[in-house]
Amino acid sequence: MAISKVELYEREFARWLGVKRAFAFWKGRVALYAILQALEIAPSDEVIVPGYTCVMDVNPIKYLGAKPVYVDIEPQTYNINTELIEGKITPKTKVIIAQHTYGYPCQLDIILDIAARYKINVIEDCCLSVGSKYKGQTVGTFGETAYYSFQWNKPFTCGLGGMVVTNDDIFAEKMISLRRKLLSKPSIKEVLMLAAELAVYRTIVYPRTTAWAQSLFRELTKKGVVIGSAANDEFVPKIPDGFFKGMGPIQAMSGLNQIKKIERNISHREIIANLYDELLSERDWKPRQFDKSIMRPIMVRYPVRVSNKNKALEDAAKAGVELGSWFECPLHPIETPLEMYDYELGMCPEAEKASREVVNLPLHPRVSRRTAERNVEFICRFDKSEK
Ligand SMILES: *Cc1c(COP(=O)(O)O)cnc(C)c1O
Repeated sequence: MAISKVELYEREFARWLGVKRAFAFWKGRVALYAILQALEIAPSDEVIVPGYTCVMDVNPIKYLGAKPVYVDIEPQTYNINTELIEGKITPKTKVIIAQHTYGYPCQLDIILDIAARYKINVIEDCCLSVGSKYKGQTVGTFGETAYYSFQWNKPFTCGLGGMVVTNDDIFAEKMISLRRKLLSKPSIKEVLMLAAELAVYRTIVYPRTTAWAQSLFRELTKKGVVIGSAANDEFVPKIPDGFFKGMGPIQAMSGLNQIKKIERNISHREIIANLYDELLSERDWKPRQFDKSIMRPIMVRYPVRVSNKNKALEDAAKAGVELGSWFECPLHPIETPLEMYDYELGMCPEAEKASREVVNLPLHPRVSRRTAERNVEFICRFDKSEK
């Protein structure tokens, strides 16, 4: 029997990353849910997460009745502060999620060491970092397992999509049986809608006339809702119907196409990030702060701190500058009812400060040198906020 597009994409992705197995899903959050299930996370178990994340990352923990435990971040890399982890470990702690925020790799050596001492699993969250290296090794290959998102805003996109990767045969077997038992397929309508959205997105990103795609898109939006990234029922910690879905063939085809360009994407991101470093330093703004002897971050966006974030975002929209606002609160987005997710204001002061101050500059393949210069000129008109 011929191998499916999804299987082919899984193989190609695993080969690119250099891991034994990859398992594709409808979204990144579904991939995390699959991992937590394979690790047999049960009610009242505790999962350590950075207090600077996206609610879609916390939902799968809550869906299983487990408890997210938030650890504050370090102000330079926005990653979990490893000095604070042990203080949060209890006999119920089962997992540490090592989220590589904006593309900066976490202090993996320290995290893996803590996890080994307490017999806790580590899940790498690579949704924002495709290709970053820590001590010469690519993120996503350190822990027992890692996951990726291929949503529109991510370093590498299939419209929507997620992937679990592992080098562990026992874990892979669990993933296979879990998929066989529980996974549903996206509906025809969802597949078509996403295909149309993807085509429209590509026309905007890489101008090309695909009029058919636009008219299909319009027809479909008249008939149903656009498949957005988050539905309203995802701001409550209860699993929506049909959540546990696999990847469709069109996402996989898009992924196969993207993976051919991945090295170009990575080097472009690195060049533009270095350019931002240079241009910001020239204007006496602080460039990125990270330990170059151990980290080689491939960033999704370039974070900068300003003291008047709202004004910067408003003006950017008017000026046509592609300024991003994540994360807007410790559990992005701002609509999240924090108390339902066991977060209390004040729990992670550095994360809360970062949410108030950080905006981010684009690094995607369309950002030219000229755009980068214009973005820096724009941002330097605001008051910087320095740690
Ligand atoms: C985007 C993102 C997710 C969720 O990915 P989806 O594909 O949107 O489900 C999880 N964690 C982080 C850090 C993310 O940025």
